[in-house]
Amino acid sequence: MSKIYRFTCIVCPLGCYVEAELEGENLKIQGCKCPRGEEWVRSEIFEPKRVLMSVIKVKNGVYPVVSVKTDRPVPKDRISQIMRFLSNLEISAPVKIGQVIVENVLDTGANIVATKDVEKK
Ligand code: SF4
Repeated sequence: MSKIYRFTCIVCPLGCYVEAELEGENLKIQGCKCPRGEEWVRSEIFEPKRVLMSVIKVKNGVYPVVSVKTDRPVPKDRISQIMRFLSNLEISAPVKIGQVIVENVLDTGANIVATKDVEKK
C-alpha cells in the first residue's frame, strides 16, 4: 500500500506544490521544478530536519534567559531531547550574539549559538 505526501517546497520563493508517493522503497515525486526541491522532499520524508530555536537560563544577566538556535538543521526526532537538555543548562552573563554555547549538541553535529546579547547586571 502506498502513502501520499503533499508539500509546498520551501527551498526557494517559487513554492512549488509537490506530491510524492511512497510505495515500499520506491518514491515518485511530481511537481518539483528542480533537483534541489526533489532532494528537499526526500529529506522531508526520510529524515526531516529543522533548525531549533529555544532559550537558555542566564545567571547574573540583565535578562533571565537568552534566545538560542542551532547553527544547522537537526533531525526532527531529536528536537524534544535537545530541548530537555537545554532546559537544564544555565550560563553566566555576559553572552554575546553568535557565541557558541554548546558545541555538537548531543552528537548531532550542530552547535547551539546565542541569537542576542545579554549584558551582565
Ligand atoms: S522545487 Fe525547485 S523551483 Fe520549486 S520551489 Fe523547490 S527549489 Fe524552488
